[in-house]
Amino acid sequence: MKLVLLGPPGAGKGTQAVKIAEKYQIPHISTGDIFRANVKQGTPLGVKAKAYMDKGELVPDELVVALVEDRLGQPDCKDGFLLDGFPRTVFQAEKLDAYLKGRNDALTAVIDLRVDESELMDRMIGRRVCRVCGAPYHITNMPPKQEGVCDLCGGEVYQRADDTEETVKNRFAVYKEQTMPLVDYYERSGALMPVPGSGGPEKVFETIVADLSAKR
Ligand code: AMP
Repeated sequence: MKLVLLGPPGAGKGTQAVKIAEKYQIPHISTGDIFRANVKQGTPLGVKAKAYMDKGELVPDELVVALVEDRLGQPDCKDGFLLDGFPRTVFQAEKLDAYLKGRNDALTAVIDLRVDESELMDRMIGRRVCRVCGAPYHITNMPPKQEGVCDLCGGEVYQRADDTEETVKNRFAVYKEQTMPLVDYYERSGALMPVPGSGGPEKVFETIVADLSAKR
C-alpha cells in the first residue's frame, strides 16, 4: 500500500490518515507534522519553514522533497506508506514519481477527499489538535471528553497558529492555485481515487477501505 492522501485544508486528511495507517500497518508521513516538530525543536529546517507556515504559504519545494525522500528511504517504508500533505505541487508529484520509478515502484492510489467549500471553513476554524500526539479534534463536531485535554494521551489540545480565519483563507487560495492541479495530474496517471469526505469520519473511512480493496 503506497498511498497519497489529497484534499483541501479541513477535508479530514489527518483524521483519515491515522485510521488508514493503523488498518494497513503503514507509516503515516505528514509533512506538516514533521515541520511542526522541527519548529518546536527550533532546528534550522524549522526556523526556515515557520516563516512560510505562519502565513499559510507553502514551504519551498526543494526543502520538502529532500525531507520526504529521506523519510521514504527508511526501512519502515519499504512495503508501504501513507503520505499526508505531500505532494502539494506538481513539481513535488513529479519528484515523487521519479523517486518511486527509480526503485521500480509506483503509487497504489491517491485518495482525493472531496468536501464542499462552505463546510471546509467551519471545520478549519473549529479545529483543535493535541500538541503531544497530534490527535485531531473539533470544538463542536468532535470535542475531547475534557476540554483542552487529549483523550488519548492527556496532552494539551490547542488551536494551530495557522488555523485562524485569515491564514485559513490564504491556505485555501494556495490550495486552489498550487495543489488542485494535482487532481488532473493523478487522473491522467490513473492513480486518482476520489472519495466523498462528508458524512462523518467512520463512513468516509469505510468508503476508503472498500475502494482500496477494489483497486488492489
Ligand atoms: P498541513 O499540516 O499539511 O496543513 O501543513 C501545514 C503547513 O506546512 C502548510 O501550510 C505548509 O506551510 C507546510 N507544508 C506541509 N506540507 C507541505 C508540502 N508538501 N509542501 C510545502 N509546504 C508544506
